[in-house]
Amino acid sequence: MMPDASHLAPSTINWNEIDHVLLDMDGTLLDRHFDNFFFEEELPRRYAALHALPFEVARDRLLAMYRSVEGELAWTDLNYWTKQVGIDVVAMHKELNHMIGFLPGAEEFLRHLRRLGKHVIIVTNAHRTGVSVKVAKTGLDRYVDRIVDAFEVGYLKMRPEYWPACQRLLGFDPSRSLFMDDDEGCLTAAKAFGVARLVHSAKSSSQLPPAPLPQFFSITGFSPLLNGRRTG
Ligand SMILES: [Mg+2]
Repeated sequence: MMPDASHLAPSTINWNEIDHVLLDMDGTLLDRHFDNFFFEEELPRRYAALHALPFEVARDRLLAMYRSVEGELAWTDLNYWTKQVGIDVVAMHKELNHMIGFLPGAEEFLRHLRRLGKHVIIVTNAHRTGVSVKVAKTGLDRYVDRIVDAFEVGYLKMRPEYWPACQRLLGFDPSRSLFMDDDEGCLTAAKAFGVARLVHSAKSSSQLPPAPLPQFFSITGFSPLLNGRRTG
C-alpha cells in the first residue's frame, strides 16, 4: 500500500500560479544571527554593565521584558526599547552593522524572482528604523518592489488582524500568493487567512542548526524554490 502523503505540504512551487511573493526579512532573507546576538547577548551585556548586574541576571530581566510585549508592536519597536532599557538601540544597530548580511543564496533567489517578473514585497515585523539600517548595509531594497513594516499595517504578522489589513494595503490575491517566513506563528496566521503557498525558512541563522517544521514546506537554503537551478 502506498503511504498517504496528502497531509504533507507540496514540495515544489509552480511559479505560474504565483503573482505576489511576500518575504519576511530577518531569518528568511537576512541572517538572524545579527538579531539573536543583538538582543540575547550584546544588549544584555551592556545592560549588565550599566546596572552593575551579573550577565545572567541582566539577560533574564531583558528576556522577561521582551516576553511581556511579545506579539505587540512594541516587541519590535526600537524606540520603545531605547526608552525601556535606557540604551540607544538604534545607535547600537549602526555600530554593529558589520554583522548584518544576507543568508546564503538569498540574493540569487531575489534576482530569480525579478527575472520571473513577480511582484516581490518584503513584509517584516521589524521597526522602520531597523529596516533602514539593514537596507543601508545590504541594498536589499533594490531587489524588491516594496518593503512593508508591521507599523504600516498596524499589527505583527502572527496576529490574525495583520493579514486582511496587509491585503488591503498591498492588494495581493491570497490564492495567487506565496509567503515565506522563519516564524511558525506568522505562517500559521497567513495560512488561516488563505495565503495559497507557504514556505518555512528552516535555517534562520548561520550560527544555528536548521529547525524544520513538519506541517509546512520547510527548507534550508533557496535551491528548492529555484526548481533545479543552482544557487551560488
Ligand atoms: Mg523572521
